[in-house]
Amino acid sequence: MATMMIGASAFANADVSLMRQAGIGWVRHGFAMPFADRLYGEVSDRYRQAKTEAEAWLAGRIEVMGVSPGPGIGTYRPDESGRMKLVWRDAFPSWFGEPGSDQYFRCYQAVCAWLAQDLRGIVSAWQIANELEIRQFAGPLNLRQACELILAGARGLKAADPSLFVGPNSGGAPEAYYLYGRLYGEADSPLDYCGVDQYYGTWQRGSPELWAERVAELHALTGKPIVVNEWGFSSAGELMSADERRMGVPNCQVRKWHRTWGPGHTPEGQAEFVRGAFEAFASQRDALAGVFFYRWEDQERCWQCGSSDCPVETRWGLVDLEGKPKPSFYAFQEGARKLLRG
Ligand SMILES: [Zn+2]
Repeated sequence: MATMMIGASAFANADVSLMRQAGIGWVRHGFAMPFADRLYGEVSDRYRQAKTEAEAWLAGRIEVMGVSPGPGIGTYRPDESGRMKLVWRDAFPSWFGEPGSDQYFRCYQAVCAWLAQDLRGIVSAWQIANELEIRQFAGPLNLRQACELILAGARGLKAADPSLFVGPNSGGAPEAYYLYGRLYGEADSPLDYCGVDQYYGTWQRGSPELWAERVAELHALTGKPIVVNEWGFSSAGELMSADERRMGVPNCQVRKWHRTWGPGHTPEGQAEFVRGAFEAFASQRDALAGVFFYRWEDQERCWQCGSSDCPVETRWGLVDLEGKPKPSFYAFQEGARKLLRG
């Protein structure tokens, strides 16, 4: 990648001209499993829809970083006593066979090769699955199997189109060090970049300045350009009380955060965070291939618990529910300009 990718996650109906004004030239866009019944069988409506949306992004002069299908997802649902519990839903069809089996990885490699073929000229960079060192995204796969899935996906994509820029994203959990060692430890690694997601001050302890040392550390460790596949700071939500934090309740249970930073989870705090993070990114420009903000717009409902008044997944946007810029929009615009200019 010769140029810096500055991107975001966004819904298909986003205002692309406003996104471009913010300095966003890329979108992170998920693709559903294309085949339900059998490999190379009938193509699913959800996949077709995602392809149509990708073509629309490109027509709006926003480039597409594809996200290949992941093995499933865990969401929080109340059990009989009302306590939130993580419930896993498989996303791969039954013909993949047993999770972690040879057949399972062969099928994934074939599906990814097909995706690269079918989306040639539309998708030029890929994120393989999502945060696979985290149980909520890896489900039954252990860390070694998670790595096998990433490598199978990369081999499929690169075999079909060697020009693609491919890599995985870790969720920034301590377990991710296993992935870095396994995935980048060999000279013939098919991966072009090392991706990382991190939410200092919201999901993790810390401040935006930490991005500088994080990027430098991963670049030194893997020898690859770094892509920040997700970064951001929620603009709403109170901090849990000391008692609530001690009890370790899920955020969605009390609709509050375990962590905060600086001015707190407010629109101004979010703008301040964006400014600080862009400064950190700019200091590591030579090691960076791209940064993808999470996310372009606020959301009506929390995807983890389904509630509209839960801050956990609803107030991460640069624009609000009406599509109007929040203070973070302007901080982003300025930061992106500086990062690109360098
Ligand atoms: Zn929630």
